[in-house]
Formats: sequence, structure tokens, C-alpha cells
Amino acid sequence: MARIPHRIYLAEESLPRQWYNLRADMKELPAPMLNPGTGRPATAEELYPVFCKALADQEMDDGTAYVDIPEEVMEMYRIYRPSPLVRAYNLEKELKTPARIYFKFEGNNTSGSHKLNSAIPQAYYAKEQGLRGLTTETGAGQWGTALAEACAYFKLPLTVYMVKCSSEQKPYRKAIIENFGAKVIPSPSATTNAGRAILAEDPNNSGSLGTAISEAVEAAVTTQGYRYVLGSVLNQVLLHQSVIGLESEAAMALIDEYPDVVIACAGGGSNLGGLIAPFMRDRIRGKNKTRFIAVEPASCPSFTRGKYAYDFCDVGKITPLAKMYTLGCGFKPSENHAGGLRYHGMSPILSKLYHDGYMEAVAVEQTRVFEAAELFARCETILPAPESAHAIRAAIDEALRCREAGRSETILFGLSGTGYFDMTAYQAYNEGRMNDSIPADEDLRKGFDQLPKVE
Ligand SMILES: *Cc1c(COP(=O)(O)O)cnc(C)c1O
Repeated sequence: MARIPHRIYLAEESLPRQWYNLRADMKELPAPMLNPGTGRPATAEELYPVFCKALADQEMDDGTAYVDIPEEVMEMYRIYRPSPLVRAYNLEKELKTPARIYFKFEGNNTSGSHKLNSAIPQAYYAKEQGLRGLTTETGAGQWGTALAEACAYFKLPLTVYMVKCSSEQKPYRKAIIENFGAKVIPSPSATTNAGRAILAEDPNNSGSLGTAISEAVEAAVTTQGYRYVLGSVLNQVLLHQSVIGLESEAAMALIDEYPDVVIACAGGGSNLGGLIAPFMRDRIRGKNKTRFIAVEPASCPSFTRGKYAYDFCDVGKITPLAKMYTLGCGFKPSENHAGGLRYHGMSPILSKLYHDGYMEAVAVEQTRVFEAAELFARCETILPAPESAHAIRAAIDEALRCREAGRSETILFGLSGTGYFDMTAYQAYNEGRMNDSIPADEDLRKGFDQLPKVE
């Protein structure tokens, strides 16, 4: 066979025209979201005051396997898609592994991550419904940037609650979001009841993703014609992110490849859920024996040390309850954790698949993650996001296992984004100032003790 090229691109006319909904193939569905007021399954109607109608409907739709991608969304996807599937020849050589390593690179757009794949449809459906604007939160800033890009394209006002310490540590992230015309409010802020309550207790509170979510939801439901959007965890986000997996499947088919192992980092689970979607479909249908590995930070180990339980999605406890692997909505990773992926919970779809044995998970320490990131950058010339470097770490470990065992497996991992705004973390690593902190069982127990009691 001819040598496989470094970069494998689909032709524009072969781009997926539909998203794939993994729930349609699952043998058992994830547990339903609960209304915290009634303790009963939430209905789409109950979500309409918070989410756009079309997105609330997608959230609840367990049955439709393929959903047409609106033409307006396709038009913006074509600006930066297909994303390349890359054969990591140089990394393979460096590792002296017989494994073939491929990665799907989602950092080729200004947001620097896969988040634009869901930001575009979310902004589109809001515009289509005639809404006046959107609110959201952002932690590291990739989601805020992606949504600001999408809202600028569809001419929709956007307010972003940005975790305060992050808006201070990453002023250029904030500037980019503002450049696309969105308003950035550092969180906790005095603009919401949730923010004021936290500031009253602790005026120097540096913010968290959960707090920013509480503020963004409150701002949406109290502003006429506004709705709230979220960039991870939700079923609708995994649906939109399935373009990553569908493109990967099609590009691998072009070179007669199929993955033995699929690996991605997991914060709320959207890039992982998107990448594995078509391969997991085949696994559920008994057509492959592919392994799936979720990679998370040892300092925020939702899958590997969390509980599978109903929990709130935010610190302010105003969102519906989701059954997921969680560390408790009050959990905060240690201050010295620089590697991203700090969310306390996990996608309910992925939680169910993991619980039912379809997926594995590993937790990795951040110094080993940055070591992998630098090796990868030196071999493949891309500076990875610290989040994505978790997947690189596990891919390298799998490739080394293949070397030990003399097996030439096909490894596919998700390179979810680039790390140009994470140089403070890289600097700390290079100057030997980075260390690992792994929560003790007692630290975790505090979070578990506060889980809501649900029968
Ligand atoms: C947001 C983000 C993640 C984590 O989110 P998931 O929903 O778990 O995919 C991972 N990588 C990058 C580059 C991100 O921006």
C-alpha cells in the first residue's frame, strides 16, 4: 500500500451532513435529568425558560439517531472543517513503537479548540428562535471565545461570565472575546443574586466554573428574550461534537484504517463523546472490539474516584439534577492545578457508558501530562492545550505498551486544542515549579457528603 500521508483531509463534499446521537443506540439510556423542585424527570417545557427550544428538544431526544445539520451551520463549519486527521509519524519514531498513532486536530480555528463545533449550532438555533441574546460562562476561556465567534457570525448579543482568576490570569483571552463583540463579566460579580451571595461571604472569592454557571443561568432567566448556553456535559453538546468522530471515521476509511484504541481527555466529556460516537456505536452493535479511554487529571478525578449519583451541575444549585460521575458540586481542585479539566461532574451519557463497562478511564498527574505535551510539541510542532495533553499522555502510554508487547495497534486520540494561552502553566513546568496534588479520600468525602439525597 502507498505510504499514508501525514495529514488526511476529507473533501468538502464528503463532510458529514448529519450529527449522530449515541443515545439512539445505547442498550440502556442515561438516567433522566431531574427537576430539583419536584424531584421528577424534567420535561422539555421546563427547560424552555433556560435553553433555546430546539436545543432543549435535542437534550431530551433519546430516539433520533441522525439529525440534519442546518445549512447555515454547515456554511460556518466549512470555514474551518474538515479538521485534519494526522498520522504522528515523528512521535511514533521517537517512541520506537510499532503502533500507528493518529490524532484528530481540533485546534485549527481562533477559539483554539473543538468548542466552536457546538457554539455554532447553539448560536444558530437561538437566532432562529428570534432571541435577543445569550449568556454563558467560561473557565479557561475557550468556550467563551468560541461562542463569541459564533454569536458575531449570527449577529447575536452575548454576555460571558468568566471565572475571575482566569480573566485576570488570561487577559488576552478576555480581549479576544471582547474583540468578537461579547461582554465579559468576571465572576463572582455584583450583577446577580448568586454572585452577590458569594461575595458577601468572601469578597476575595476567585471564582469557579460552577459559580459562573449559576450567574449566567440567573442572568438568562431574568433578562427578557435571553437564554443560557453551555459548552460541555449536555447531551446536545455531545450531539454537535459527533462531527469530530464522524469525520475521523470517514478519513480513516480513506486509508483503510480503524482504531483499536480511542483516547480523549475528559472535562465534561464533550470532545471525548464526540470523537468516540461512531466507534462506540459499532462497539454497542457488536461490530468491533475497540477500547475507549477517558483521561482525566489526578487532581479532579470524576470518573476514577467520583460517585455515580444525582448532582447539581453548578455550585449555586439552581440547575436540574443530572445522574453522573461527580465529585460533588462544591469540589474545587487544588490551587496548584494548572492543567484544565476542573469540572466536578461528567456527561451523563459517558457516565452511563463507563458504568456499564463500555469505557475505561485513567487519571494522570499534571507533571506527566506536561512532559507528554513537550515531547509531542517537539515531535509534531503543535503546542497542545494542557487539557489535550492528557490524551497525549495516555496515547504515549498505550504506544509504549504496544512496544513492550510487540503489537502494532492503531491508536486514535483527540487533540482537542492548542495551548497558546497556557504559557504560565508551561513556564511553571519548565522552571520546575509545577507539582502534583492528589486529593485525599477525606477531601473527596466532603464533596460526597453534600450530594443531594435522591431516591
Ligand atoms: C474545554 C476543553 C476541554 C474539556 O472539555 P470537554 O467537554 O471534556 O471536551 C478539553 N480540551 C480543550 C482544548 C478544551 O477547550
